[in-house]
Amino acid sequence: MDNTSYIEISKKAYKSNIRFLKKVVGDNVKISSVVKGNAYGHGCEQMIPLAEQNGINHFSVFSAYEAKQIANYISDTSDIMILGFITAEQLEWVIENDIEFYVSNVDGLENAGRIARLFNKKAKIHLELETGFKRTGIEPEEFDRIILYLHENVDNFEVKGICTHFAGAESIANYVRVKNQLIQFKKHNKYFIKNNINAEYLHASSSSAALIYPETRFNMVRIGIAQYGFWPTLEVLMTRNNKYGDRDASLKRVISWKSEIMAIKKVKKSEFVGYGNSFQAAKDMTVAVVPVGYNNGYSRSLSNRGHVLVHGKRAEVVGVVTMNTITVNITDVKNAQLGDEVILIGSHNKNKISVASFSEMSNYLNYQILARLPMNIPRFVVE
Ligand SMILES: *Cc1c(COP(=O)(O)O)cnc(C)c1O
Repeated sequence: MDNTSYIEISKKAYKSNIRFLKKVVGDNVKISSVVKGNAYGHGCEQMIPLAEQNGINHFSVFSAYEAKQIANYISDTSDIMILGFITAEQLEWVIENDIEFYVSNVDGLENAGRIARLFNKKAKIHLELETGFKRTGIEPEEFDRIILYLHENVDNFEVKGICTHFAGAESIANYVRVKNQLIQFKKHNKYFIKNNINAEYLHASSSSAALIYPETRFNMVRIGIAQYGFWPTLEVLMTRNNKYGDRDASLKRVISWKSEIMAIKKVKKSEFVGYGNSFQAAKDMTVAVVPVGYNNGYSRSLSNRGHVLVHGKRAEVVGVVTMNTITVNITDVKNAQLGDEVILIGSHNKNKISVASFSEMSNYLNYQILARLPMNIPRFVVE
């Protein structure tokens, strides 16, 4: 092991997730695979070819910077869509290379038009509409200027999409807001159609909405977390379970993150473990030190909270997560030795622990922890 930990990507789990998601959304809905944040920490270099093997040919990233990175791994027949940030200089590269991108205001459209004209290209745009998310998106007052500009510059634009983003479809508490957004979105789209702006794709859904609100799928969905085998929230899983009988295992975790035991220590009742006094042993115990800390992507917020698997048994993190180590309680693990495998994310088949580490905790933490897995952890695709 060159590094202190490594990541395995399961081909079989990913294939199963894509098959499941295709069944959910149906044949007429295109799946754009969201691979921002280095494919949610899974690694674009590994995930993109795998996705292409499974019939995915559309990839979404946040920035032009990320688009440049994935351009190295993507095949000529796949498309890239930028959902977020592009600097003025990057816009030239984006348009020259036929990268699709969101336009969310008049300025953005005019800049794109100017550059497309200069390079004699058609900018491939997705018009992002404001429907109530109030982050980015074209305001209804701007629609007429947008429409006029598009008609005046027909040679320099291809309207690939009309889209929006929901303000939290993963929680039923946001249901009314999401429903209103959907109404606005449909109404706005009609206005564009009436004015002869016909987009090839209409899209609004990320994983949550795509899974639980069929009417939000239109003909494209942007799937991030679900393709990696994580439910966006427990609520989304419960809703799928009630309506369709899906279980946790309907989505399979693609990632495993592993390290090994570097030290073992006996701790006596009432002794403190690690820095400071955040953990005091309530009884005699055995702890193991694992060479992964917040510098390696193991969030400090998992201090005294996270879990790992050793020999298939859950071992909780005791004390604080340091820059390069965690300490875990292995009192109940028989015969643990130096060098034994420690699973930080993933499962251990024989003992049927299907969910390890932190996945039962806040799902927001899942997104965050995955996205923060450093680039330099070696990643391997396994069967
Ligand atoms: C991140 C993102 C998605 C994917 O969200 P998931 O919940 O991971 O499926 C889709 N659309 C936009 C605009 C995003 O930023």
